Amino acid sequence: MEIRLEDFSTARIDKEEIFPPATIDQWLSDYDGYRNYGDIISRAHFTRRNTNILMQAELKGNIIGVCSRCLEDALIPIDTDITIMFIPSSQQKKYAEDEEVELESDELDVEYYKGNRIDVDYLLRESLILAIPYSPLCSESCRGLCHICGGNLNRGECTCKKENRIFSNIKINLF
Ligand SMILES: [Zn+2]
Ligand SMILES: [Zn+2]
Repeated sequence: MEIRLEDFSTARIDKEEIFPPATIDQWLSDYDGYRNYGDIISRAHFTRRNTNILMQAELKGNIIGVCSRCLEDALIPIDTDITIMFIPSSQQKKYAEDEEVELESDELDVEYYKGNRIDVDYLLRESLILAIPYSPLCSESCRGLCHICGGNLNRGECTCKKENRIFSNIKINLF
């Protein structure tokens, strides 16, 4: 998704972009076991004031990740918001000195842009990565792996003795 200064015939522009599975896989290529689960949709609006552009965007869809308990696929819903103020890089120094602007955008993330064109895909990708939970689960009731034989307990009991498994669990938690 990109925005150009000359696109602003009014102060506000709404944009929607559907990121196809291939793009999502590319975004997730640094993360083993993570991949697309269909399209991810971004709806954004851009508000321009002089050369400053405020982007408010949402990112919605699903991806597949790795369950932190059983290491199988976990469906991860993505529903995240992004608010960024774009400021021309020529204003970077001025911006730092200008208290008024600073107050206005106190809670805002600021990015600097060059030229007339802002490509926001790298920020959308970053938001997707940040939206991934620390410990994804395939299901709230996932029973995980047996710490002795590594068997997936969601597929049924393994042959390890239950009490051994409990002790092994305790050991893992202690050390
Ligand atoms: Zn699981
Ligand atoms: Zn076992």
